[in-house]
Amino acid sequence: MKVPLLDLKAQFVTIEPEVRAAIDRVFETQRFIMGPEVSGLEEEVAALSACAHGIGVSSGTDALLCALMAAGVGAGDEVIVPTFTFFSTAGSVSRLGARPVFADIERDTYNVDIAKVADLMTERTRAIIPVHLFGQCTDMDPLMELVAGKNITVIEDAAQSIGAKYKGRPAGSLGHLGCFSFFPSKNLGAFGDGGMIVTNDAALAERCAVLRQHGSKPKYYHKFVGANFRLDAIQAAILRVKLKHLPGWSEQRRRNADRYNKLLADAPVTLPTVRDYNEMIYNQYVISHARRDALQAHLKEKEIGTEIYYPLPLHLQECFSDLGYTTGTLPVSEEAAKRVLALPVYPELTDEAQTYVADCIRSFM
Ligand SMILES: *Cc1c(COP(=O)(O)O)cnc(C)c1O
Repeated sequence: MKVPLLDLKAQFVTIEPEVRAAIDRVFETQRFIMGPEVSGLEEEVAALSACAHGIGVSSGTDALLCALMAAGVGAGDEVIVPTFTFFSTAGSVSRLGARPVFADIERDTYNVDIAKVADLMTERTRAIIPVHLFGQCTDMDPLMELVAGKNITVIEDAAQSIGAKYKGRPAGSLGHLGCFSFFPSKNLGAFGDGGMIVTNDAALAERCAVLRQHGSKPKYYHKFVGANFRLDAIQAAILRVKLKHLPGWSEQRRRNADRYNKLLADAPVTLPTVRDYNEMIYNQYVISHARRDALQAHLKEKEIGTEIYYPLPLHLQECFSDLGYTTGTLPVSEEAAKRVLALPVYPELTDEAQTYVADCIRSFM
């Protein structure tokens, strides 16, 4: 048996006629830039996230960049980010001339440790980017308490967590701004790149919308220096089709995670921890093991796809070497980077395939 980490084709065949009809709709109107598909998706994703405003953008990375620009982050500012995350959480900070300040994570959820964030706050802290990693929200209440009354913007990196809930409230509505990615491997994936910012703050929404189109309002009159951060209309049309299926797909991912939890209950690997106040959407099902590399090689031999998210924490990346971090400074993240392994958990994964994956993990032990 062959089990890929993700099987986009298996999902596509279930929605192919709907997707083709949606693309045809755009072809008929020739409205490729902005227009009704983009504004329709913005309303639908905002509603899903319990937010008043949605601003479609070109990627999750550009969502973070545009949100930071809207928050006024620039040279001399500090932005606290977890070190155990995808690159763009910190890359977007550096691109604005601000300094990423790296925080360590919780050992069990891999999300940023709020006590560590509190220790890193200074008068120069202008923003904090909690990342809802693997499909589970960060513990946001204590974080929002930390910034109450301060001029600090909280931008949720919810690229992996669209539809996830924290104490019943959806990801994206918990901070001041929320950022989603529609990269194909995310739970709501486009047929290319795409992203969205959501917020309940009308002034921030307006700034994001203007920055997305070169800071111009009205057209050809530029109040700010923005960029082209627009979401493509064809991608928006496809995403509107897929959005209707998202709750069902997330449910199947949760079901698959529950099955792994049972199948691997007695195996000597660490299974994912989900806080009882969180509803996780399992963008990834990540186990942890001391001999991770050997386990991955064993699974590869059995034709099972796995991935390491992430093999090197950001504070140890070459491009950030001028920030002066050394090995040992953020030990929980450094340890996690050596142990984590993501297993296939995509919605269409069959019971047989899951049993095979679990059997192969056990045979390694
Ligand atoms: C995918 C991802 C991003 C970037 O999204 P793109 O759409 O690929 O630019 C940012 N942060 C996290 C945590 C991600 O997983």
